[in-house]
Amino acid sequence: MFDKLIGNDDTKILLQRLAANGRVPQSLLFAGPEGVGKKLFAFELARLLLCGDGGCGTCSVCNRIGVFDIPKPEKGEDYDAVFLSDHPDVGIVLPYKRNLRVGAIRELEREAHFRPFEADKRIFVINDADKMNESSANALLKTLEEPPSTTHLILVTSRPDALLQTILSRCQVIRFAPVSAMAVENLLVSTGKFTLEDASLAARVSVGSVGKALDVDIQWFRQTRDSMFEIVRSAMVTGDVALMLQTSEQINDAKNKDRYEDTIAILESLVRDIFAISKGNDRNSLSHADIADSLFKLAGEVTTSRIEHWINEIEELQFNYLVNINRKIATDGLFAKMAA
Ligand SMILES: [Zn+2]
Repeated sequence: MFDKLIGNDDTKILLQRLAANGRVPQSLLFAGPEGVGKKLFAFELARLLLCGDGGCGTCSVCNRIGVFDIPKPEKGEDYDAVFLSDHPDVGIVLPYKRNLRVGAIRELEREAHFRPFEADKRIFVINDADKMNESSANALLKTLEEPPSTTHLILVTSRPDALLQTILSRCQVIRFAPVSAMAVENLLVSTGKFTLEDASLAARVSVGSVGKALDVDIQWFRQTRDSMFEIVRSAMVTGDVALMLQTSEQINDAKNKDRYEDTIAILESLVRDIFAISKGNDRNSLSHADIADSLFKLAGEVTTSRIEHWINEIEELQFNYLVNINRKIATDGLFAKMAA
């Protein structure tokens, strides 16, 4: 089992051993970077626990686990629910807009106490467990304190530090590491949807995250990177503030605004590459190694402290995603500071 998942081999071995010995803890926390497959591992563990044939991957039980039909939410209440997979003993709780709602956690408590329908266990995944507010966390604590013996809860998070200590202490933490760029690249090529060059780029820019790499829209990525590269060049070399403000307009318009955060992440990774070069790192360490020559040229134009200042400004903008900022104004402000 786990043979379709790449990376984190130690974790595979650990989970297989726990399952084989019937010692899978009732509360688990899967912690590790975004997109390395934590959720897929959770469903694979569910297959190990529920399939009569050690998680064969081909039977009806295995095939129905992790297959969901989740409605597009129209309002928060739509997510006050445990979504069951096609296998009714495996479910997931999902955040609605950055918030795991207390209604969903209460529903989870109810489901956790039901007897299994088909199997002898029930397994629930709590995705983005760090998105619980205080009342959600307290509601979950109740379930974690006295879990029914037939239920396993798997909390999934890329930000374990954001969880309450009382929750952490009730879960066995399983840590996930980033997946190597080479492994991601090989996987992308094997899908047949990526050329070698695109796979290599997608693997590098998604830093160890299989999920992100599979989702990269390479054409969009290249275009956006060109435009962010021009932002950096304008700020450093040409001083073309008008062009920068025009770009700010574009990335905030209706057509592009859903990709705003990804766009700023590309800007950030370019700036971080230039920072790395200015600190003497070599080209192989760069996210954008394929345009290393251009980045080296730019790095020659700027001081390390100025670049550091830019990184701080970008991080502050990203932090402000959490509050309701006017993104257009914030982007104008960022670009103006970069050009100053
Ligand atoms: Zn099976």
